[in-house]
Amino acid sequence: MTLDLMTRKQVAIAAVRKASAVCKGVQDRLISPETIEKKDKSPVTVADYASQAIICSMLADAFPDDVVVGEEDAAELRQDDQAHVRTAVMDQVQAVSDNCVDEQTVLSWIDLGGANADTDAYWTLDPIDGTKGFLRKEQYAVALALLEKGEVVLGILGCPNLNGGQLLVAIKGQGAEILPLWDSEETQGTPIKVSDITDTAAACFCESVESGHSDHSQSAQIAKLLNITKDSVRLDSQAKYATIAKGDAQIYLRLPTSETYREKIWDHAAGKLVVEEAGGTVTDVAGNPLNFTHGRKLEQNRGVIATCGPIHNKVVEVVQQVLKG
Ligand code: AMP
Ligand code: MG
Repeated sequence: MTLDLMTRKQVAIAAVRKASAVCKGVQDRLISPETIEKKDKSPVTVADYASQAIICSMLADAFPDDVVVGEEDAAELRQDDQAHVRTAVMDQVQAVSDNCVDEQTVLSWIDLGGANADTDAYWTLDPIDGTKGFLRKEQYAVALALLEKGEVVLGILGCPNLNGGQLLVAIKGQGAEILPLWDSEETQGTPIKVSDITDTAAACFCESVESGHSDHSQSAQIAKLLNITKDSVRLDSQAKYATIAKGDAQIYLRLPTSETYREKIWDHAAGKLVVEEAGGTVTDVAGNPLNFTHGRKLEQNRGVIATCGPIHNKVVEVVQQVLKG
């Protein structure tokens, strides 16, 4: 299949913008101090399903033969005791739909994202990446990427809480650009470039807020060995990749916290291309390229290192030194 990337880019941008608007609405209206106190996860569940439904339906409308490997499926949502969640998801999708939608249609849109990552070309979607950040009213991203023969060829990150709402887009071989997330008329992006530092002492780290997703004590040791003095910036989601691509930080470390965890493709595909097309480098912690030919997970990789480029080998070397203890 030869993919029309320019048309897919425009449809994907519109889909990510619409899904991001729904997520923002849910975050603003449904998360209260009370839901935070109760650790109530229902707002993110609703927004997650609604986001996947919207993006899958818009992709299917424009490209009926395209397949989507999404993080969610509707199996749980179909259960009898989930009627209230189904209603809430329906309400969110209806609010941004021109036509009247029914429950079965919305469930079938969500299930469109249930494809296996075993075809020549497929989209991969994280409808809300950084669910913990979403619930804290902090950073999260709507992440959509298109893969062809194991290569990420199009990557889109909608980051509703990054500088008032930013959309980052990259096409393989054509650079990365930034657009306002909320201005749906704006289709012309501004090119972005990673930082041009060449000495790690001038670098700033970014890493997960959640120490369960990336080891914070090891990153502190690595920072010391790289002579980094600036405090690390902690962000949820692929907003970290966006931060590196824009040149606002120079090193994103995702250090494995267990032997067995394997990264999911939808957590990295879009972000990796955005950083690479902005001039940066992305590998796993051993310095190997991320390998998207093993289904839904990066089975052959552990962790991730994304940098602005010239310092990459040095960072990998020090990461290896610390991981090997
Ligand atoms: P972040 O917001 O960068 O901390 O990452 C959020 C993503 O971490 C989620 O989408 C999960 O898929 C992923 N995740 C869950 N458990 C782990 C883990 N043990 N190590 C690394 N990533 C994880
Ligand atoms: Mg995720």
